[in-house]
Amino acid sequence: MYEAVLPDFFRLLVPLPGNPLQAINAYLVKGPERNLLIDTGMNRPECLTALQDSLAGLGADLNRTDFFLTHLHADHSGLIGTLAPPTAKVYCSQTDAAGIGEMVGESLWDKLAFYAGRNGFPTTDLAVALHKHPGRKFGPQGDFNFTLVQDGDLVSCGNYIFRCIATPGHTGGHMCLYEPRKKLLVSGDHLLQDITPNIAAWSDGHDPLHEYIASLNKVAGLEIELVLPGHRRVFSGPRERIRELKEHHRARNAEVLRILTGGPQSAYQVATRMTWDLTYEKWEQFPMPQKWFAFSEAGAHLNYLAMEGLISREMVDGEYLFSLPKRKTRRQRG
Ligand SMILES: [Zn+2]
Repeated sequence: MYEAVLPDFFRLLVPLPGNPLQAINAYLVKGPERNLLIDTGMNRPECLTALQDSLAGLGADLNRTDFFLTHLHADHSGLIGTLAPPTAKVYCSQTDAAGIGEMVGESLWDKLAFYAGRNGFPTTDLAVALHKHPGRKFGPQGDFNFTLVQDGDLVSCGNYIFRCIATPGHTGGHMCLYEPRKKLLVSGDHLLQDITPNIAAWSDGHDPLHEYIASLNKVAGLEIELVLPGHRRVFSGPRERIRELKEHHRARNAEVLRILTGGPQSAYQVATRMTWDLTYEKWEQFPMPQKWFAFSEAGAHLNYLAMEGLISREMVDGEYLFSLPKRKTRRQRG
């Protein structure tokens, strides 16, 4: 399924069966010499078939197509090994290209297990969570010869000259594509209208939320009329949405601080006490991947607050516990 969003510019809807994200938007820009495909869908047959149908309907020849990955997540990068011929350029940031290498080479999962284990994620659930991780089940396979892009680099296709905008936060190497003459932003998962981009900590001290807020401020300074996001609806004028996303994270930080009034807690314990926009009544009912993402989001808020000096972190019996500053007890007059 696809629709034209601008001349020679198409949104390709790629379904993600059984995933709360429902679908991802890939984008095809058609050029006289070569096309550009932005993001791909997961490495699974449902995504491949849907994407191939759309590409065939648009008469796009993969042998005359280059690829751009907004970020490393499996729903965006999964099919790159299947779709990209060896001669194609595959644009990606250095940080996320390295992350894809760790995902393909499996070293990522040990690192995640180490982090999760000492932040309270129950050991019995950890193996299941990592086994069911979409990056492991549906991530890309193969060797990739990425064309690395950095902030400010230009990528042209037909009438479009895109500027790469480094927008770390959702992942460390997330990249948007900005077309200043058309006031157009391909936002990947940096800006989404109908859902909130997941901001996740993957190691101790990793502080993606500060990065994300800086990236929101950066994009707020661009002149943009149309946003083409990685999920759900295309939308216009992102400033209001940017304001809402910043407010959302401010409120979540406040919630985490409130939870910590109950005493020192691990990131996992905090996650079980936060409110989540899911249909399940209690934490125990969350499917394992949802527990995993909630846990990593709690971690992002905790690391942000620790970096701000509002909370502290202490290793107790092999686990990190976060706490509010101790209240100064008033000196008793004697
Ligand atoms: Zn993503």
